Amino acid sequence: MKVWRARIIAGVSALALLGGCALTQPAETEPALAQQTTTTPTYSPAIMLPDPTPTPTATTPTTTPTPTPTVTPTTVEVAADVDCTVAKCIALTIDDGPSERSGKVLDTLKKYNVKATFFLVGNRIGNYTAAVKRMGAEGHSVQNHSYSHPEFWYMSSAQIKSQLTKTSKLIKKYTGTAPTMYRPPYGESNKTVRKVGKNLGLAQVLWDIDPKDWKDRDADTVAKRVIKNAKPGSIILTHGLYSSTIKAYKKFIPELQAKGYVFVTVDQLFPKGMKAGTNYACQAAPKCREPA
Ligand SMILES: [Zn+2]
Repeated sequence: MKVWRARIIAGVSALALLGGCALTQPAETEPALAQQTTTTPTYSPAIMLPDPTPTPTATTPTTTPTPTPTVTPTTVEVAADVDCTVAKCIALTIDDGPSERSGKVLDTLKKYNVKATFFLVGNRIGNYTAAVKRMGAEGHSVQNHSYSHPEFWYMSSAQIKSQLTKTSKLIKKYTGTAPTMYRPPYGESNKTVRKVGKNLGLAQVLWDIDPKDWKDRDADTVAKRVIKNAKPGSIILTHGLYSSTIKAYKKFIPELQAKGYVFVTVDQLFPKGMKAGTNYACQAAPKCREPA
């Protein structure tokens, strides 16, 4: 019972501190569909919830029309040349891929000339190697989000190390570049997690904007939350698994660009460099607390 009590308290803490990716049950495996036959959790991590939008068949026309962008992407500053000590930089992070929607995510980023940071789940990479290669080839930052999306709070150093090492190897294999950052699943971090990250040469990246796209599959709602909370230096948490999230990109990206924001990769937010073992999340939100 002690264990369960600790889990409940820990889960509540995560919700209170991070406001995102809360959960009521562990996710040691990556059971996108397998666990649906048992019970539906009240709160679930993005990776465990299938998109409710039915997959269009060959005979069914798509129900996702492409909205017209409100600004012309040609006016956007080139992210590679931007100086984030001067410009209004903002980082879009995309978790839990790769997936069957990665191609559409990449097409959307390309359309708006956005470089994003992907946090990939290692055991999905083998099924979508072309998408992972494309992420690297198109100038995105491809980083580590564990191998099977487990809860790091309940794992030993050796287990966490194994999760991160396996995924880093796969990312290096398909993009040619080893990750320098990781994001613990559900944002579950502590001293042990950060120590493992430090030993592996990885900086930890959380977020300050969580539009809860995994929970509310509505593009307008998600886009409004991002736009309302955006500040220079913000790190936006999203999940590349849902058509509603891709639709939200098409709303909030051009709107923020019209307000002068430049979308950059997370490392560009920190021109002095990122230190392994350090948590990066709160630079745009002074009251943001680092998790215990
Ligand atoms: Zn995740």
